[in-house]
Amino acid sequence: MASRKAIDLVKNELPVDEESVVFSGDLRTGLVLVDIVNGFCTVGAGNLAPRVPDKQISGMVDESIQLAKVFCEKKWPVFAFLDSHHPDVLEPPYPPHCIIGTDESNLVPGLQWLENESNVTLRRKDCIDGFLGSFENDGSNVFVDWVKTHQIEVIVVVGICTDVCVLDFVCSTLSARNRGYLKPLKDVIVYSGGCATFDLPLHVAKDIPGALAHPQELMHHVGLYMAKSRGAIVVSEVSFTPSKK
Ligand SMILES: [Zn+2]
Repeated sequence: MASRKAIDLVKNELPVDEESVVFSGDLRTGLVLVDIVNGFCTVGAGNLAPRVPDKQISGMVDESIQLAKVFCEKKWPVFAFLDSHHPDVLEPPYPPHCIIGTDESNLVPGLQWLENESNVTLRRKDCIDGFLGSFENDGSNVFVDWVKTHQIEVIVVVGICTDVCVLDFVCSTLSARNRGYLKPLKDVIVYSGGCATFDLPLHVAKDIPGALAHPQELMHHVGLYMAKSRGAIVVSEVSFTPSKK
């Protein structure tokens, strides 16, 4: 683990003021789940899965399940990315992971019920950035179409990894929104407790050729900071009240 001193120093120099949000249904709101698949979340499931139980990752899964349940009870739109790769197409710099047809590329057991929900759109993607991974061969974009079809004004994003797939998706979505491709989307909210990243401490990474150190708590914070610096709203609390409409 990165030293407490280093983490505190970064958090002090790069603070992320986290807000709280209350969803009333007055704004059309969608939930985006990023890669909550076995290959990233289930202990021992593959090259990029945690090797031992991981509190940040299991907390992210639990929070995401709770949010997904509320959205599905309300029949609000949910969009779930599933990292899924063809066995012959690598994704450098990562080792093979989430190969199509294996359990690695499937939703974690606690979210598999989403496959049968009518308000849920599942999107298998073979790249880090889910926005780019939503393009079809004809140039259409499944995520853009989802926003427009449901007239979504706010999205709340959860998943893994805070500083990789979540961040890249958030950055591309914000740029696309700013260019007018995602009307009527206004706000992109990142829920910190519903996000997690992997842990590769320096003392482990230095013995792996080519590996970059990736201390979990620090990089989770950096991911949130970068998302906020690009214009996302970072929240530490999400709650719901009955719609006034
Ligand atoms: Zn991948």
